[in-house]
Amino acid sequence: MFETKERFKKDFMMRLEQREERESLHAAYSVLSEMVKEWINDDWQANKRVQREEAHKQLYYFSIEFLTGRILGQNLMNLSVHSLVSDGLEEMGFSLAEIEEQELEPGLGNGGLGRLAACFMDSLASLGLPGHGYGIRYKGGLFTQVIKDGYQGETPTHWIDEKEDWGMRQEELAKNIPFYGNVHLEVQDNRLKPVLRNAVWVKAVPYDMPVVGAGGKTVNTLRLWQAESASYPLPEGMEQDFYQQAVSEISDRLYPDDSQQAGKVLRLRQQYFLCSSSLQTILQERDYPLSELPKHVAIQINDTHPALAIPELMRLLMDEQGMVWEEAWEITTHTISYTNHTILQEAMERWDSALLEALLPRIYMIIQEIDRRFREKVLEQDLDEAARKKLSIIEGGAVHMATLAVVGSYKVNGVARLHTDILKMREMKELNDYFPHKFHNITNGIAHRRWLVKANPELTGLISSAIGDEWIREPIKLHGLNPFAGDPSFLQDLQSVKLLKKRQLAEWIRKQHGAVIDPESVFDAHIKRVHGYKRQLMNILHIQLLFNHLHSDRNFRPHPRTFIFGGKAAPSYHFAKQVLKLINAMADKVNNDPLAKNHLRILFIEDYSVSKAERIFPASDVSEQISTASKEASGTGNMKFMMNGAVTIGTYDGANVEIVEQVGEDNAFIFGLSAKQVMQFEKEKNYFTNDTLAHDPELQLLMSQLLNGELSGGEGNVSYIKKQLVDENDPFFVLKDLQPYRKAHERLLSVYEEPSAWLGISAVNIAQSGIFSSDRTIQQYSDHVWNLEELTNHYT
Ligand SMILES: *Cc1c(COP(=O)(O)O)cnc(C)c1O
Repeated sequence: MFETKERFKKDFMMRLEQREERESLHAAYSVLSEMVKEWINDDWQANKRVQREEAHKQLYYFSIEFLTGRILGQNLMNLSVHSLVSDGLEEMGFSLAEIEEQELEPGLGNGGLGRLAACFMDSLASLGLPGHGYGIRYKGGLFTQVIKDGYQGETPTHWIDEKEDWGMRQEELAKNIPFYGNVHLEVQDNRLKPVLRNAVWVKAVPYDMPVVGAGGKTVNTLRLWQAESASYPLPEGMEQDFYQQAVSEISDRLYPDDSQQAGKVLRLRQQYFLCSSSLQTILQERDYPLSELPKHVAIQINDTHPALAIPELMRLLMDEQGMVWEEAWEITTHTISYTNHTILQEAMERWDSALLEALLPRIYMIIQEIDRRFREKVLEQDLDEAARKKLSIIEGGAVHMATLAVVGSYKVNGVARLHTDILKMREMKELNDYFPHKFHNITNGIAHRRWLVKANPELTGLISSAIGDEWIREPIKLHGLNPFAGDPSFLQDLQSVKLLKKRQLAEWIRKQHGAVIDPESVFDAHIKRVHGYKRQLMNILHIQLLFNHLHSDRNFRPHPRTFIFGGKAAPSYHFAKQVLKLINAMADKVNNDPLAKNHLRILFIEDYSVSKAERIFPASDVSEQISTASKEASGTGNMKFMMNGAVTIGTYDGANVEIVEQVGEDNAFIFGLSAKQVMQFEKEKNYFTNDTLAHDPELQLLMSQLLNGELSGGEGNVSYIKKQLVDENDPFFVLKDLQPYRKAHERLLSVYEEPSAWLGISAVNIAQSGIFSSDRTIQQYSDHVWNLEELTNHYT
């Protein structure tokens, strides 16, 4: 690397002058990222060598999504040269922020699950732990959201610029993956060996991305696989064109759905493609006896999407390495561990047995055998039929991936305490009874380096001026801020920082959307995937209640608020798409109403992404975390808001419970049904929407305004919303929680009117947020699941 700013400037200019379009920002981006790649590369190679030589145990994190966000700025920061480079560029007339904007943003995730994987990569490297990611290089990523007439449209995301890609193609490390075919038993070396004939082979080519930890010493690898044609002969009768298309499809695009099972054969192909290529690599790179695999390797599967790793590892150990079942099973079940992310039934993966058998005949045989052996063991216990059913992997013509994942792993974790409790007591009660020590909780976290240090340098500076900067390495030390919650001069500075971030966001929105918002208003943000359980509908209906109130009561003139929404709806999720349309129609109405517009503004930010999130979290006053209790496994957006001093309005759901435990009930605004109450209603089936509406004329008026199409620009625009609220008896309790939600907002606003009280709450939230750093999360995984050792840094 360079030693000084002057050296950097010289080197940068020299390279830029050799570029054809040296005047363009893109050329500056290209030069800078080339330099950063070179700086990283030596350390990266050294890391690989040392990790091999010292035989450190390696973690491999298998995930169908990695929502990394832009890479350049993150690398500059972790290399500790962000300000030096920024200053150097500025002296030469460049803006680093503008250069960073040149980077196409990889859209390789839907939301929280994918972002979690990316935060984990950052924390692993920053803690000096040998942990690597395995994922898929989707060419079209997740769709880009385009809003037209208030409706969501979808276009492919072109995020790959082959010249500037952070991933480096590793042709020589390609693997071949078999699909379809028939299994034959053949005698080899005096034993029966299953052999797959007539398979269709697909080549998996890895693209390796360096993951630089804070301080720049540890560089791990994120390996993303791309599907290409294999040079194997095609089975008889298969057309080349058909094959070509089928292959290219595998890494074409990411399924746009994070909480509904896609059930598509392409998705299944993607899952096997990821597992097989990654496992083949792990087994081939090893230089120790196979029996020692669990001593050298831990594999974490991020939800059930990579659960085929279990039968695939069995296949490789038995069919390719000649192991017997018992030994292979022993190794597999001491290598793989599983993170559960949801208890929503519609999100539980179940693959049709016939489909799985046709696509992966040998894998299906192995799953059958896992199921058969497990059934035998279960039979030894005195269980009723219903319990036995819950312990079956193959049941009702489908393979239950969560059951497979639990049976084949040595540890299973939920992602927040409440979620893990629900898993253990209800959703997976029988499995937990059977494997009493397998289940445990590890609450999610976020990379504070990206979400606070990088996204909010102004707040970072303020915090460090108050308590020093050790908290950046040890975020729990943010506790030191607690006494400042009563310090008027600190609170005044906190207010100035927030106002500055709000101004920056407002300016960006003006440029991007042409919309004008008032930085003096309360910024109230609800940004996440649009889904029934996340209740964007409740938020927008509350705004209509306020609208009605403004028009009916001259004395009701509340402090101005800007309601910010952002999030994508899955293209086939009609309900969510109508909610999105409703938000946009309401925005049109409210923002143009002569009376309402002085008090309420609605802003929908198109195509929510990591880089947009980085602007919104720091600028928000209020964090909307209003999911139906028991439905949100953890949430991580809630933590990003908290860390940036936004105050939570929310239900006792997911990690909200632990956030409130940290800050105290006086420093958050909690309302609504508890998880227990929701589950009780669901069990007893004794909730009726009409009971909620019966004595509430305000809600009745609201419902009629909604159902007659007045709010959404047409009756047809709320057909699915009506179906859910009326015909399906409001399964997410939107109407039931609406008045309590409104009261919580009233409490919140009255505190906001008292700046010292409000800012004190904000300060406490920041001070207590350190525990939600993903460094803490990763340390817990490492201590309790993976058993990793910190790398020694003597090679730097
Ligand atoms: C953090 C994050 C999410 C997850 O948000 P939740 O509120 O936890 O659902 C989704 N998308 C992006 C871009 C994020 O940064």
